[in-house]
Amino acid sequence: MLKGKTALVTGSTSGIGLGIAEKLAAQGANVILNGFGDAEGPQAAILAAGQAHGVRAGYHGADMSKPAEIEAMFAYAEREFGGVDILVNNAGIQHVAPVEQFPVEKWDAVIAINLSSAFHTTRLAMPGMRARNWGRIINLASAHGLVASAGKSAYVAAKHGLVGLTKAVALETATTGVTVNAICPGWVLTPLVQKQIDAKAEREGVSLDEAQKGLLGEKQPSLQFVTPAQLGELAVFLCSPAADNVRGAAWNVDGGWLAQ
Ligand code: NAD
Repeated sequence: MLKGKTALVTGSTSGIGLGIAEKLAAQGANVILNGFGDAEGPQAAILAAGQAHGVRAGYHGADMSKPAEIEAMFAYAEREFGGVDILVNNAGIQHVAPVEQFPVEKWDAVIAINLSSAFHTTRLAMPGMRARNWGRIINLASAHGLVASAGKSAYVAAKHGLVGLTKAVALETATTGVTVNAICPGWVLTPLVQKQIDAKAEREGVSLDEAQKGLLGEKQPSLQFVTPAQLGELAVFLCSPAADNVRGAAWNVDGGWLAQ
C-alpha cells in the first residue's frame, strides 16, 4: 500500500517509533530512522519487515532538540530519498517532578523534544507534501495530551501543545491531500515507561511486578499495556485512503484511560 513512499519516524531506534516504522515498512514504505543508541539493529529490523517489498532503510542521528540538526536531517531525506511523504513525530522524553522542583533545563528539553521538534519537522516536510499533494503527518501525543497527571507538568504541557499543533496544521491543510493527526497512547511498556516502573518500585518498596500492576491499575482499566505493534497498525490505517478524511483527530489507544 505504501510502496514508493518514504516515512521519516523520529525517535525510532527503540520503543513505539521502531514499532511504527516496522509496520510502515511492512506496507512497502522506505523508512528513515532517527534517535540515539544503536541504529544498525533497528535498520536491520526495517529491512526484514519490508523484505517482500525491497524497502530501503536510512538513518539520521539528528538531536531533535536542535533545529539546525533537524534541517540537516531533512536535507539528507531530500538527497537520499527524494523527500518525506509520511512524517511520524515520535521522539519524546519524560521527567517527573513537582512543578516547584522541576529543573529548568529539563522543562526546556521536554518542550524542545516533545513539542518544538514537531513544529520544525512539520514546517520542513510541508512544502514537499503540498507539491506532491499527498502527505501524512502523525504526531505521537499521549493520553497526557488530553488529560493530566501530577508531576508531569512539562510532558502534559508539551503533549497538549502537540494536540493543538495537530489541529491547527490539519485546518491549514484541510483541502489538500495532506492529513495531520495525533495518536494518544496510554501506557506502552518501553524504556520510557520502564524507568517510571523502576522508580515506583523503589519509592514504594515493592517488586517490579507489583509496581507494573500498580501503574496500570491507577490509569489503564484494561490492565494491559498497549503495544508498539498496535500503534503501528493505527499509523498504517491513517496512511490509507480510508483515512483521507480523518483530519485533526487525537485518537486515544489507551485501554480505557480516557473513558473514566
Ligand atoms: P523510548 O524511550 O523507548 O523511545 C524514545 C526514542 O526517542 C528513542 O529512539 C530515543 O533515542 C529518541 N530520542 C530521545 N531524545 C531524542 C532526541 N533529543 N533526539 C532524537 N531522538 C531522541 O520511548 P517511547 O515510550 O517509545 O516513546 C515514544 C513516544 O511515545 C514519545 O513521544 C512518548 O512521549 C510517547 N508516548 C509513550 C507512551 C508510553 O507509555 N511509552 C505513552 C504515550 C505516549
